[in-house]
Amino acid sequence: MNFKQCPAKFEFYYNDEGYWNYGTSDDKSNMDTWRGNEFHDFAETFFDKIKGLEPEEWTKQFEPHEDEIVQKYIDWFVSTEIERYNDLKSLDKLDFFNPLANELKITMEDEIDRTGHVDRIDLMPNGDICIVEYKAGKSYDMTNIDRVTSMNSEIGWYVNILNAIEHYPDKKITHWKVINPRLEKIWMNKISPISLKTVEKIYADMVNRIKKGLKFEKKTGTLCYYCPYLQKCDPFWEEEVELNFDQ
Ligand code: SF4
Repeated sequence: MNFKQCPAKFEFYYNDEGYWNYGTSDDKSNMDTWRGNEFHDFAETFFDKIKGLEPEEWTKQFEPHEDEIVQKYIDWFVSTEIERYNDLKSLDKLDFFNPLANELKITMEDEIDRTGHVDRIDLMPNGDICIVEYKAGKSYDMTNIDRVTSMNSEIGWYVNILNAIEHYPDKKITHWKVINPRLEKIWMNKISPISLKTVEKIYADMVNRIKKGLKFEKKTGTLCYYCPYLQKCDPFWEEEVELNFDQ
């Protein structure tokens, strides 16, 4: 959730005229961001293109990517999905392979409307829901407890919206999964009720800040390197951030 990572980033993001197009830019000025976007684009259409096909046919449905590193992300991702497909097949649960949704945009009316983009929503074989996020940044390493906390908030934001708008009225949202093709890692965690409460507190703080005209402070850190608003935030930081943070 942008607000928790950096309130200023949230403010830039929320006021961005390309808000709903976030992550679709062709801009190659930051190759990490561009590669992440390219991977998202691939993953978004992947399940539609392979529907009804056996894994041997999957890669034939896609042109090789122009960028060697993105292709590496794609190859790794496809290999993990083949593994998941085969696991489900062996359990006779292939009905659970295709996600319930890809790139789902959600909106909830509230004092200040809440919105979110969920990368993917899976139905698990026990009938519960798992929110899946694709994160291609090196910093999205869920062995780091701070990143897990931040992910709990991001996912908690989506969960609270999905529950409030009753998007899946007869299902429980119980897990999140982060898929990082750059680190070639997948993490799965249970959603904690505490993080859902924390998100509500953050939202109340955000509304209060807006109402009182308080500042959205800048939280600088490694994530600034990946921030699409770095230049807007402070044109002089870009150079400094590049010097200080190893990609
Ligand atoms: S560059 Fe850093 S401080 Fe500025 S908005 Fe982005 S994340 Fe926040």
